[in-house]
Amino acid sequence: MNAPQPNSGIMEIAPYVGGDAKAEGIAKAIKLSSNESATGASPKAIAAYKALADELHRYPDGGSNELRDTLAEWHGLEAQRIVCGNGSDEILSLLVHAYAGPGDEVLYSEYGFLMYPLNALASGARPVKAPEVNYTASVDNILSAVTERTRMVMLANPNNPTGTYLAADELRRLRAGLDDSVLLVLDSAYAEFVQRNDYSAGIEFVRDSDNVVMTRTFSKIYGLAALRVGWAYCPEAIAGVLHRVRGPFNVNAAAQRAAVAALQDSDHTEMARRHNDTWLPWLQGELEGLGLQVIPSVGNFLTVHFPPGGPRSTDKALAFLKARGILPRGIAAYGMADHLRFTIGLEDENKAVVAALSEFLNATDG
Ligand code: PMP
Repeated sequence: MNAPQPNSGIMEIAPYVGGDAKAEGIAKAIKLSSNESATGASPKAIAAYKALADELHRYPDGGSNELRDTLAEWHGLEAQRIVCGNGSDEILSLLVHAYAGPGDEVLYSEYGFLMYPLNALASGARPVKAPEVNYTASVDNILSAVTERTRMVMLANPNNPTGTYLAADELRRLRAGLDDSVLLVLDSAYAEFVQRNDYSAGIEFVRDSDNVVMTRTFSKIYGLAALRVGWAYCPEAIAGVLHRVRGPFNVNAAAQRAAVAALQDSDHTEMARRHNDTWLPWLQGELEGLGLQVIPSVGNFLTVHFPPGGPRSTDKALAFLKARGILPRGIAAYGMADHLRFTIGLEDENKAVVAALSEFLNATDG
């Protein structure tokens, strides 16, 4: 066997599969499988995207400078500590590649975002899970899983797929319990949806330490998932590392322009937030009213338990919903085979979910 062999760890990766987008025989499915924005992108962002059409022959600004300046102004940050990426996925992957390798451990919470263990394996490092309590990250369990080989801790806050979060005090305790040499990555992809006084997206932790990075995305509340734009707020030394390892033109020009316009359209963002504030509790209440167990979420999605084995299992529910053009997300890859995750949709989409699940449960009654 003389064929080229990839680095160790890579063949252990089960490639990430995105949420379903099509239901057989249905012209337009209700796609609730990828936590995208129900209300879509700002019309101003769409206009900025279209306006770039005449400049397609030009390279983008490799430093994403206007976007970084706008982010800095908007969030009260220092532009030189912001790094933009091709989605926050790119930044998370670059961080793991830059800070962990063979012999190292990347620590994450049991039901944490799937890309953390995949990135660790891709870097030759060992992904290590810390058990959760009630589908919520546990600072004590994370801290007790730290070894001398732990290089980084990755925490989505709120987490996908559970929707649960850790309050700022808990983040402070986590940060304080880690050695300064361990990188703490706070992935705040859903931060804009969270309406809790005790929540922090992580800015103050980055500001106060040399080992904390916060990542954010334009794929969720800003509705720009197709364009792939994310960013990190970092200690300057870590920003310097990311600039060294990122591609020279990693964020395309249309994405940069649209992201600037999206950020500036605060009315649109506010509308998207209000939409979620209305429909997240509504959907949770309706599903609980049907007798389903729902994990309390502060994001733009809800994860719902279905009893295994019998007529109301996730497989049966998924098939029933798909046949009606409704596409939630199966999350067996997270070790949550008995749950389905539903993104909050438009009013008629949310109502269609409740109607279909009510029909499903009635059909399987007794
Ligand atoms: N982090 C979390 C917790 C996510 O759910 C996602 C998207 N599924 C990402 C990061 C990546 O988002 P993007 O690359 O689109 O910015």
